[in-house]
Amino acid sequence: MAYEPIWTKEPDKLSKFELVKLEKDGLDVIRTIIEKYALEGYDSIPVDDLDLFKWAGVYQQKPKNGHFMMRVRINSGIMTSAQARTLADISRLYGRELVDITTRQAIQFHWLTVENFPDIFKRLDAAGLYSFEACGDCPRTIVGNPLAGIDKDELLDTKALVDEVNSFFMLNRDFSNLPRKLKMSISANPYNNAHAEINDLAFTPAIKEINGEEVIGFHVMVGGGLSAKPHLAQKLDIFVRPEEVLKVATGVATIFRDYGYREKRHHARLKFLMADWGAEKFKDKLVELIGELPARGEDKTIGWQAAYFYGVQPQPQQGLNYVGLNVPVGRLNADELTQLADLADAYGDGHIRTTMSQNAILSGVPDDKVDDLLAAPLLKRLTPAPKPFISRTVACTGNEFCSLALVETKKRAVAIAEFLDERLALEENVRIHIIGCPNACGQKQIADIGLQGALVKTPEGMVEAFDIAIGGTLGGGAQGPAAKFAQPLKGRVKADEVAGVLEQLLLFYKSERTADEGFHAF
Ligand code: SF4
Repeated sequence: MAYEPIWTKEPDKLSKFELVKLEKDGLDVIRTIIEKYALEGYDSIPVDDLDLFKWAGVYQQKPKNGHFMMRVRINSGIMTSAQARTLADISRLYGRELVDITTRQAIQFHWLTVENFPDIFKRLDAAGLYSFEACGDCPRTIVGNPLAGIDKDELLDTKALVDEVNSFFMLNRDFSNLPRKLKMSISANPYNNAHAEINDLAFTPAIKEINGEEVIGFHVMVGGGLSAKPHLAQKLDIFVRPEEVLKVATGVATIFRDYGYREKRHHARLKFLMADWGAEKFKDKLVELIGELPARGEDKTIGWQAAYFYGVQPQPQQGLNYVGLNVPVGRLNADELTQLADLADAYGDGHIRTTMSQNAILSGVPDDKVDDLLAAPLLKRLTPAPKPFISRTVACTGNEFCSLALVETKKRAVAIAEFLDERLALEENVRIHIIGCPNACGQKQIADIGLQGALVKTPEGMVEAFDIAIGGTLGGGAQGPAAKFAQPLKGRVKADEVAGVLEQLLLFYKSERTADEGFHAF
């Protein structure tokens, strides 16, 4: 029986977009795109339906003249070489050869037109890939440990769990109309590889003795998220066995769907409900829905490595290695992605992995093939040993394509990192994140130095500038740093002066820091 929404009992308390969603489920737009708009063209698309395109995984790109960006879900950031070739082909055919790795391990294309979508959906489906619900008010790409299955530290391989939860939620009409997006992470890596605290729902590694047996499972955090009003997720007092992960995820999604706020878009994320309810009330409601769960056990998160995995690293499988590569600000071209797929087949286990730091990993490389892989020409640019600043620089899409952006981000991020790499040597790696607007897709709040695009008035008119915040970090359990968001500094710096200002700031830090001070950098 189809799910009957309870929030429609008070339609006067729904935002304008909620009323649009009541008229047409976001998932219906996929069929309309294929059967109507792809044939009749961009000008035939009504505005309300353009907003629903997000459920197909696409947004209009700047300047909203018929071009779109598309996001493709990569669960846990793990794809096969064949899937990577499909993505490279789509980019080559329709996306002007650009491929971006996002901060949620997804792949993003630009320059697509509505006429391209049916063929792209077909190609993705044939490869077992989907853009559906990569955007929209629904459960999004599930991020995970990109090392799942090749991680000497993880408590268990979470890949199958992520796939199970993904299969349940994707295209599931019981959950295709949430108040806003629902971002989930599932990882059993002790170094917080999936950035638990900034997800709406995060499963983190834990153990608990149950009936005299030590059980490996998860703790649960709920209500994290960034944007203009960032919140850290709160821990629930429950322990979850692996076979109960889907049940808990379904319970949390149900609470969000039925009790989440729908009056104002900017106040609709799960973090606001969680902040109002608190962890205890949220847990009580969850238990009411899905039944009792054991109380928390022992937390096994012991640090945060900020999703950086550079160089040749041994896998638990004897004689095999993974190789972490730098993809500057997450941007590749189609040929580079094809070459990565070729290298994965020639030297590795045929897989490419994407990280939340916008980088890539090749896995399953035998000891005797490592040197040949490292000599591949592609690894001159996508190097496993990048210079310090470019190695830790993250950037969102910015005004090259994003209609919300106030400034250019990616090219500027590379220029700033190269400037600092030429002029500064520090004992630690400093993570710099650059975003084009308060929406924080580039996660500036968790950076050592976060730059947020803005405009500033000058005698020559309005020019691009940045607000600077410092000292953000995510948590590393009892032994690691406590999570905290970057704190804003006073003032606003013109974009063409920001590299010099950062140099001065870091020189000051270098000379004045005390022995126990430091960025929580990795
Ligand atoms: Fe666009 Fe803002 Fe997100 Fe950057 S942070 S991609 S500018 S919405």
